[in-house]
Amino acid sequence: MNFIHQTLDDLRQSGLLREMRQVDGPQGPTIRIGGRDLVCLCSNNYLSLASHPELAEAAAQAARDLGCGSGASRLVSGTMAIHAELEAAIARFKHRQAAVIFPTGYMANVGAISALVSRDDAVIVDKLNHASIIDGCRLSGAKLLVYPHCDPAKLDRTLQNASRYRRRLVITDSVFSMDGDVAPLPDITSVCARHDAMLMIDEAHATGVLGPTGRGTEEYFGMLGDPRYAGIIVMGTLSKAIGSIGGFVAGSRELIDYLCNLARSFIYTTALPPPACAASIAAIRLIERDHRPLADLRANVELLNGLLRDAKLIELVGNAGRVTPIFPIRIGDVSRAMNVSLRLFDAGYLCPAIRPPTVPEGTSRLRVSLQAGHTEVQLRGFVQALRQALQG
Ligand SMILES: *Cc1c(COP(=O)(O)O)cnc(C)c1O
Repeated sequence: MNFIHQTLDDLRQSGLLREMRQVDGPQGPTIRIGGRDLVCLCSNNYLSLASHPELAEAAAQAARDLGCGSGASRLVSGTMAIHAELEAAIARFKHRQAAVIFPTGYMANVGAISALVSRDDAVIVDKLNHASIIDGCRLSGAKLLVYPHCDPAKLDRTLQNASRYRRRLVITDSVFSMDGDVAPLPDITSVCARHDAMLMIDEAHATGVLGPTGRGTEEYFGMLGDPRYAGIIVMGTLSKAIGSIGGFVAGSRELIDYLCNLARSFIYTTALPPPACAASIAAIRLIERDHRPLADLRANVELLNGLLRDAKLIELVGNAGRVTPIFPIRIGDVSRAMNVSLRLFDAGYLCPAIRPPTVPEGTSRLRVSLQAGHTEVQLRGFVQALRQALQG
């Protein structure tokens, strides 16, 4: 067992050992750690719904009415009316015929990808795609081809060379988790159509966040409801802006029937518990009815862009600023990123350094993610603390 000790020691020496901080109390714009309230700038709780009273009440009611467990796989006796209700809500929200839920977004990616392609096929991914996509690709056994980040011309070239495979599946994050940039979906869609390739988008950071009513990247680009784009396979998670837990895939009725029969991470696992489903349903209803949380989030994105510009720090996140709530504060060196993060922690801002292997070597960063519930005072304080931390 010496390798375990040795590996941990190596990670510690190179500043890459990961440790967990315990949060006392709920997830919100501020969180309590070690008796101190910190402004939380690293959660994917974009709309601050994770501890919203409407979601909590829906979950509590479901627990009282239906209990806490679902008891079995969906295909055995685990499918409850509340699962169908949630799937219908997702399908409606994403303008698709149908949807299927998985216990997590990770399992949705792994299950869907490995069901759609196998050894005779090719799966073509953006260089910066999320780890769960890569794991699904590996599990599928399909040939893995990688194209440079957000580069439809290179994707076109890659697909030309992939014509000998039986099927081609292109997958991209629609909002990239570590950089917060948006994939050029209209161009990617036409390249895929030209080469008769399937397209799947991972809407983990777009659902509830992008587009006038938060329906995601298709809405952002004005593609929603356009029959030319109805074939795009939409994957997403209920654990980020939706504030609960669970993953989903939305698409045609046939696609969903296919996944229910072939996706192993759907078949061989227990169905989501009723309280989690109830919270997700409540969140989708809230987002459809009340556009305030999204408007507040947008206002905070604009505010932080402006504050970083005024502080002459905008080049750290890219000169044009950001349209999504994810701001990569690019620092580069691991130990410097750790140092800046520690200084921010001392000043009351939780913003951990993101290090390899999550991001490429030499691109360590602070990943700031904004919430609807952050206040102007909190964001002004953060930029001031950041400026001081960067000087040290
Ligand atoms: C978080 C994330 C997932 C996984 O979703 P979970 O519900 O947390 O398992 C998948 N893809 C992307 C791009 C993500 O950021």
